[in-house]
Amino acid sequence: MADSYWLAEPAAPLRSRRLHGVPEVEIVGGGVTGCSCALALAQTGVRVRLHEARTIAGGASGRNGGFALRGGAMPYDEARTTLGPDRAKALWTLTERGLQSIRALAGDTFRQTGSLRLAADASERAELESEFQALDQDDFAVEWLDDLAPQLERFAGGIRHVPDAAIHPARWVRRLAQHAVDAGAELLEGSQVESLTKLGAATVVIATDGYTNGLVPELDAVIRPIRNQVVVTEPLAKLLFPLPHYARHGSDYWQQTPDRRLVVGGRRDSDATENTGEEALTPLIQKRLEACIVELVGRLPAISHRWAGIFGSSPDGRPLAGPVPGREGLWVAAGYSGHGNVLGFVCGQLVATAIVGAAPSELELFDPARILAKPA
Ligand SMILES: Cc1cc2nc3c(=O)[nH]c(=O)nc-3n(C[C@H](O)[C@H](O)[C@H](O)COP(=O)(O)OP(=O)(O)OC[C@H]3O[C@@H](n4cnc5c(N)ncnc54)[C@H](O)[C@@H]3O)c2cc1C
Repeated sequence: MADSYWLAEPAAPLRSRRLHGVPEVEIVGGGVTGCSCALALAQTGVRVRLHEARTIAGGASGRNGGFALRGGAMPYDEARTTLGPDRAKALWTLTERGLQSIRALAGDTFRQTGSLRLAADASERAELESEFQALDQDDFAVEWLDDLAPQLERFAGGIRHVPDAAIHPARWVRRLAQHAVDAGAELLEGSQVESLTKLGAATVVIATDGYTNGLVPELDAVIRPIRNQVVVTEPLAKLLFPLPHYARHGSDYWQQTPDRRLVVGGRRDSDATENTGEEALTPLIQKRLEACIVELVGRLPAISHRWAGIFGSSPDGRPLAGPVPGREGLWVAAGYSGHGNVLGFVCGQLVATAIVGAAPSELELFDPARILAKPA
């Protein structure tokens, strides 16, 4: 499988360390979730070992669109209805705090640009109005945009989520991994965990999002893999899209990198063939992504990178983060439903905090027990 544009960048090898003896916690998965969890545990003095089958950020964390967004997979107004106003506010506040923490750790891999949610038609505009009002009422920073730039003329309005950011996801997660090593964690690349029985630690965290497969049957049953494909063009002459943009409820998403490459992903719409864990490109989606580029810039520039990645979706769109019911010492943080760059960081930290002490109140929002029944 082709590397993503982000992963193709040459990277210094991880300065690793060896733990002697049995660790107290082992983490499966070296994306943003696993590295965030490893950092938070190591910072409290816990002896932690992380296993990553490929390289750090080799899964969705190095293959995504590079949008670091507050909130969950659903818009804020919808979250207020399904979660209730207080819990929705708690979730959004938690992720805004997460964005600030990422900013402090990420250095130049993070640009606080805001993000732009666009309406493709009048009915999506009404949905944006509803989200705008809900955010505004609860004092979350948001801007309504009617006067869109000429390249966005065909959209029927937009809102700017002010605290959001554009990240270089692979570079960011590699940096996060290095912070974890420096804090005392052992990170093993090329270390595929074949069975939980092979791990010696009393506490294990599953941080495998869409690549969750074969270790815990009850997680495999509820965290469904979804494929997303992305293309990147050669640098364009002009910087037209300097911040993350998304439309049609996130089915289309795009942004330009600082060197003006256009990154475009999504267009899976309701195509059931993308409900798969197979990390492969398909002619149908690639054609649709090329059409999306032509809609955006009026022509098809040369494409330099094409790749696929897998994310994990949960039945209600919220991650599962917390103890796995009926499994002593087993924890999970996964199922971000395509919205894991900030939530993954936050959930990795929350689980680490709960492992070493009292569970933070926000963990209740993601309790796996709401979906996973305790085995009889
Ligand atoms: C194409 C695409 C675009 C996306 N765009 C965005 C976006 O713009 N913004 C956003 O917020 N989210 C986005 N997402 C979702 C986001 O990337 C993920 O939710 C997030 O990266 C999940 O991080 P993670 O660490 O939980 O999992 P991952 O980064 O997927 O890491 C899981 C790791 O576990 C490893 N693993 C699996 N099984 C084992 C095993 N048995 N032993 C050892 N290692 C194992 C895998 O190799 C993998 O590296 C996108 C996802 C995709 C695929």
